[in-house]
Amino acid sequence: MSRTLTTAAAPIAPGSGGDARPLVLLYNPRAPFHTMPLGLLAVASALDRTRYEVAIVDGRLEPDPVGALLRHMEGRRTLLLGLGVLTGAPIGDALALSRAVKAAHPGLPVVWGGWHPSLFPTECLAEAAVDVTVQGQGEATFADLVERLAGGISLEECLGISYRRPDGTVVQNAPRPWLTQEQLPPVDYGLLDVERYFSFKGRRQLDYVSSQGCFWRCGFCADPRVYGRQWSGQGGVSLAERLLELHDRYPFEDLNFQDETFFTRPKDILAMAERLVAAGRPFSWAATMRADQGDRLTAAEFALLAASGLRRVLVGVESGSQAMLDWMQKDIQLPQVLVTAEKCRQAGVGVEFPFIVGFPQESLSSVTASLNLARRLRAMSPRFTTPIFFFRPYPGSAITLEMERQGYQLPRSLEEWAGFDIYGGGSWVDAATVRLVERFRFYQRIGWDPPPGAWKRPLAALARWRCRTGRFGWALEMRAAQRLKPRAALS
Ligand code: SF4
Repeated sequence: MSRTLTTAAAPIAPGSGGDARPLVLLYNPRAPFHTMPLGLLAVASALDRTRYEVAIVDGRLEPDPVGALLRHMEGRRTLLLGLGVLTGAPIGDALALSRAVKAAHPGLPVVWGGWHPSLFPTECLAEAAVDVTVQGQGEATFADLVERLAGGISLEECLGISYRRPDGTVVQNAPRPWLTQEQLPPVDYGLLDVERYFSFKGRRQLDYVSSQGCFWRCGFCADPRVYGRQWSGQGGVSLAERLLELHDRYPFEDLNFQDETFFTRPKDILAMAERLVAAGRPFSWAATMRADQGDRLTAAEFALLAASGLRRVLVGVESGSQAMLDWMQKDIQLPQVLVTAEKCRQAGVGVEFPFIVGFPQESLSSVTASLNLARRLRAMSPRFTTPIFFFRPYPGSAITLEMERQGYQLPRSLEEWAGFDIYGGGSWVDAATVRLVERFRFYQRIGWDPPPGAWKRPLAALARWRCRTGRFGWALEMRAAQRLKPRAALS
């Protein structure tokens, strides 16, 4: 049975501050990574805090998140509970928590935003404990939604949401126009216990997003669908000033940019780097970079970036086969990968080069080409890593949409989505490919990140020889390791 949204709230007088402010409660579901909840922080920062109090509860930090949320609500007028929901395991936690809070407070509107509700806006509303979903860029939409719930105003005209009407019907409203970064308020880290996140991460590392969206069209990625191939970013010197301000406030040793494509406007990034150099390189930093972007930067520009603290870039290679890259519309050329790698090596910048193998109908020779390129890159620098992932049909991507047209069935219920392994290999990948990739990954790890112990040198040398020659037969070391340790699932 589905519940209908009840928002019989009295309108709030503008400027009524202090304890009278109603509460907007946000929850970050449990997930297997340590990034700060930047999406929730962004939507919370867009609210008028003279009128609304915001509390963010993180399931990764709270032993009893339901209890923590309910305690926040005690004696308070709470406007809504908002959750940022990613596809995969976080859905399970989001579901359990939404149901528990809804059971205690049936009239409280529960709002889901983030990747999964952006891709499946109305499907998420099949769940009775979810009343509203927010699609795409959430800042303005969420602020509008809060105003409407506070004022008892209909959701009919609220762009960018889907919701359940009082009669139980589900409605998807028109999308909200895209806003540039200049039109959005700065993110207020004061809404988080930043020191607690430093402890959680085990290092003083701040997460930051300086841009939204992406202009490119990679066929395995859902970003083009969610953001409509739009992009906007913060300016160079003003970005640096903002980071220096944050550094004064939360002295951090490292900054991890979470942008999809950080180097989209290289002039701005170089201006930021110059300012950081002038400030004495107060912290190190890491970001994403496309191979074509790295190819266009000069050696002198790489040197400037390194001097400003750039320690690592993440360059998605995806495949060692140009035919596969063209098929997935990655829009890079393989020589660009090698040129970027060489420039990073010379500048002393580390690189993570992820690959994806096991696309539908991908040949063994194409997979082998990827492993060969991974091996070549890995051998270039001890600061280069080449993780190999199996392709999973991530919802919303062009390749997945094509697979669905050909009969592939994605999970249907939220429970099924909660069990969706976004890393594991698909049923179409043959046993020979799985064996080859598993062995390559094992020997790559042993060869370049050997376990401690007296045998590590000969083991590492043997593993590197295996990776170099592609001779993975009689994988005795691997079998011994599997005997000593339970076999890990594909990831
Ligand atoms: S993989 Fe990266 S570059 Fe490609 S579309 Fe997605 S976000 Fe953009």
